[in-house]
Amino acid sequence: MMDSLLIRNAWLDGRTTNILVEGGRFKDLSAAPDALADRVLEADGMAIVPPFYNTHTHAAMSLLRGYADDMPLQKWLEDFIWPFENRMTSADICEGSRLAVREMIRTGSVFFSDMYFDIDQTIDIVREYGLRAAIGVTFVDAHSKSQREEKLDILRHWSDPTGGMVSLTVAPHAIYTVGEDLLVRCAETARELGLKLHIHLSETRREVEDCLRDHGTTPVRYLDRLGVLGPDVIAAHVVHVDEEEAAILAERGVTLSHCPCSNMKLSSGIFPYKMLHQAGCRITLGTDGDSSNNNLDMREEMKFAALLAKVSSGDPETMPAAEAFAMATRNGAEAFGIDAGVIAPGKLADALLIDMRCEKMQPCHNFLSNWVYAADSSCIDSVVCQGRILMEHHEL
Ligand SMILES: [Zn+2]
Repeated sequence: MMDSLLIRNAWLDGRTTNILVEGGRFKDLSAAPDALADRVLEADGMAIVPPFYNTHTHAAMSLLRGYADDMPLQKWLEDFIWPFENRMTSADICEGSRLAVREMIRTGSVFFSDMYFDIDQTIDIVREYGLRAAIGVTFVDAHSKSQREEKLDILRHWSDPTGGMVSLTVAPHAIYTVGEDLLVRCAETARELGLKLHIHLSETRREVEDCLRDHGTTPVRYLDRLGVLGPDVIAAHVVHVDEEEAAILAERGVTLSHCPCSNMKLSSGIFPYKMLHQAGCRITLGTDGDSSNNNLDMREEMKFAALLAKVSSGDPETMPAAEAFAMATRNGAEAFGIDAGVIAPGKLADALLIDMRCEKMQPCHNFLSNWVYAADSSCIDSVVCQGRILMEHHEL
């Protein structure tokens, strides 16, 4: 028999049922309670929902949580974050990644798109804990020519030690740390190898002003002029854009990673959700690093995204709970080509069990409303990724 799991007595779309998982995929959403399986996960009093897919973070920056707060982005980066990072060793990155991965699983994420240094340490931790990741190989102009060639070589020759749970992305850090030539080279490499390109974009006013001064145009137009934008691009933040740029992003099929907590905490600005949504952009959610959030809790990110969209548009109907939920779950999975993000037969078996006995989940007039607006991650009882239990009844 294939590797199988029976999730018994789970609450799904208003009914209690037994869910059979085989070979890492949902096989039967109405299985018999005594269906044969290698493992049983008891789910009495629990709802089953898709987990989270975090499309922008810097895992190892968990070590910088609370190290520097309450200051503007450039000062925060230049005076605190970069000097701290210069002193970080491989062992530090390993421990930072471990802390982040444990936090992510506990708060319901089974995937993260990372951008950092020393990718081997992070990949080892991902492998140890059994979740998925798209690990960015980061490029900045400050690297030497040989470092750059080494990174390109890694991208060309890397093979996944986890059998499909980890992919690499080409990650030019941002337009203010990566010049034209390297940006173009990154885009060419991503396309040649069929990889995603992950970049910070239009995060602050200063980035836009500097881009206007140096390149005579705005960041989105600049990247479009260089031919960088396409359906393989994951652009983080995208706070300062106009309507024409929204149309460009939609037309090129770029995936946006909206990081409301980081944008609010660094006072970077307000993601123009209504405009980008109406333009038809694919919008996902990211936490950004622990250093600017200051946690990796995607459930919180959903709530903040919805509240920010409402207060900034002056319209309480903007981003209803179901939209925030879709951004945090299936939109993120889809953007990275992960055949998951919904509980349906044939889909990869990724799921959370939510304890309906939590006070914050009661009364249940509307499950999704409770999950997005009321709950917290302590209501997450268990986490399943591709049929494997990453957390069982609160035990990692
Ligand atoms: Zn970031």
